Amino acid sequence: MTGLTKKNPDEMKPAILQLTMIGMLAGLSNSVAAPAVTRLNPPSALFTFGDATPPYISRFMVGQRFDLQATVKADAGKVITGAAFTVDGSPVTGTTTVTSIGGDRYNVVLRAYSSVAVGARTLTVLAQQDDGLTVAASGNFEIVGTTVQGRKAKNVIYLIGDGMSLAHRTAARIVSKGIAQGKAIEPLAMDTLPVTAILNTPSLNSIITDSAPGAACYSNGNKSNNGQEGVFPDDTTDKWDNPRVEHMGNYLARTQGKALGIVTTADVEDATPGSFSAHTQDRGAGTGICDMYLDEAVAKHNLRVLLGGGRKWFIPKGQPGSGRIDSLTASGADYVVPAELATGWGVPTGAQDPGRDLIADFVTAGFVYAADGTAMAAIPAGTTKLLGLFHTGNMDVSLDKIAERRGQPAVGTVATFPDQPLLEEMTDKALEVLNRNAQGFVLMVEGASIDKQAHNMDTERFVQDTIEFDRSVARCIAFQNANPDTLIIVTADHECAGVAIIGSSNVTNAQLVTRAALGGTDGVAGAINGAAGVATDGQTQLRSGVVNTYDSAAFPVYDNTTSGDGYPVTMDADRKMLIGYGANGDRYEDWLQNVQPNVNPAVRDTAGDFFIAGQATGAGVQSAVHTAADIPMSAGGRGSSLFGGTMDNTSVFFKVMQAVIGGAK
Ligand SMILES: [Zn+2]
Repeated sequence: MTGLTKKNPDEMKPAILQLTMIGMLAGLSNSVAAPAVTRLNPPSALFTFGDATPPYISRFMVGQRFDLQATVKADAGKVITGAAFTVDGSPVTGTTTVTSIGGDRYNVVLRAYSSVAVGARTLTVLAQQDDGLTVAASGNFEIVGTTVQGRKAKNVIYLIGDGMSLAHRTAARIVSKGIAQGKAIEPLAMDTLPVTAILNTPSLNSIITDSAPGAACYSNGNKSNNGQEGVFPDDTTDKWDNPRVEHMGNYLARTQGKALGIVTTADVEDATPGSFSAHTQDRGAGTGICDMYLDEAVAKHNLRVLLGGGRKWFIPKGQPGSGRIDSLTASGADYVVPAELATGWGVPTGAQDPGRDLIADFVTAGFVYAADGTAMAAIPAGTTKLLGLFHTGNMDVSLDKIAERRGQPAVGTVATFPDQPLLEEMTDKALEVLNRNAQGFVLMVEGASIDKQAHNMDTERFVQDTIEFDRSVARCIAFQNANPDTLIIVTADHECAGVAIIGSSNVTNAQLVTRAALGGTDGVAGAINGAAGVATDGQTQLRSGVVNTYDSAAFPVYDNTTSGDGYPVTMDADRKMLIGYGANGDRYEDWLQNVQPNVNPAVRDTAGDFFIAGQATGAGVQSAVHTAADIPMSAGGRGSSLFGGTMDNTSVFFKVMQAVIGGAK
């Protein structure tokens, strides 16, 4: 099919249908209308563009379960009375349900299909209308097998630095390890991993992914639309009925008895943790995502460790700190899945239960619960199930947690949620608990606020959270040294904020503090007081007077030893490293550490009068955005030799599966 360029599926009617439509319209004068298939899942270029050739959009492991789904549009006033799926011409066994979804459209679904036939398979849906007219449409997918190659990985550790690309890593190395005469004094822990690859990150519907598809692809090998996790897009508004793809945790629990662990510094309902076990078209449906952790992940994925923030989803509605939502449709919604899905996947239907005490239910299911770092450190020896919720929302960032430990004034929400553990401490505890499972485990550790603070263009906080993340990588490498059958993958879900290390400060911190208050010397704050081409006070005081580039940037020096806790004594070192943002929102910049986190960058640091207009985001709270840049991946341990080169982010899943099932040399 030449002349057709591939575009976003939702923008383009299937080529075959278009031709059929044209044919039909031509023949209208002498024939009747016909039903049409407007969507066929799994997504494929065959269905959307008529292109049967690789790359196959959807790929699955041998035996990995996924749903078959089609949207069929009937003629006006007609009814779709039946439908069936075939693969390579053979009828698919199982229950196919046909549900009217309004607008003469019907949702046709067959749940939890799987195949052992390695290679490209052709999927066809056939639907019949009550007047006898039928319609068929085809797509394809690939079934991926494994080969026996050598010793297998028993444990898999994914470390995801949310939004972390090369520049974030480099900035963390400059600050935490130091550079002398051009050489890193010491590598980051992630630098010591022997294998490197480059990953493409687009989602199913955009070159710019968000964290849901950006992480889910590592957990199930497939793309999804932005904001969606563990599912393919469909045409219903129901958040919970989408065609599902089985997660690695579920698959390996079912086939090898492995345990699953999820650790994050974000709210545990957030996209990256949610993408390792939930199935929903709404990454924000927190009540349901957290209920699903117990109802499905504990029961089916052998979830044994869940650590992070997000306690609000676990507290009964009406009690202090609760965020549970009494709705199936609103933001933060609870979940109920269709009966046919529950039957097809062997999972509970769920319930709209705002009054549920989810912490109590986890404890009933055998979990030890910890609400702070001290409690987590003190869990009983031999614990095999651990739930730790250290904040009602996202945890505070490492810069602020460390300040608390150093006895400095509390900032952020540290005072309300004291004694939150650091990511490396949560990682240690997760490894200790998961390692008690004889069949091994899959662990996902997320450094979430690298992304959140890069969005906020808060340099000091995203850099320090990258350091916290790297210290967690170090803990995993130490674990791998003691447990050689462990595969470690360190990567990101996407790049955030277009981070660029532009140089260093030309002045001491004290001088910078002075300059940051000088901007308003003419008494008029803001960029508007500078005529075209005439520098504003801020541009004079804080840019041309401060930013050293090229050789005058030299080597910024940070003290990481005096603190004794492994973190920089201060991020406001003299002649500090300076960061620019290529995907920025509006902000005022004074290069100094912000006292408080999460302040709107457009109303922060105004005294310096150095306004930098953003390239993205409009009115309201300003935020830098994700970019489409490829991201780095580092791998070490058992099976890491399988990785390398440049590949699509979904390929990581299949290589991990090869390492676990077939082994590697
Ligand atoms: Zn983000």
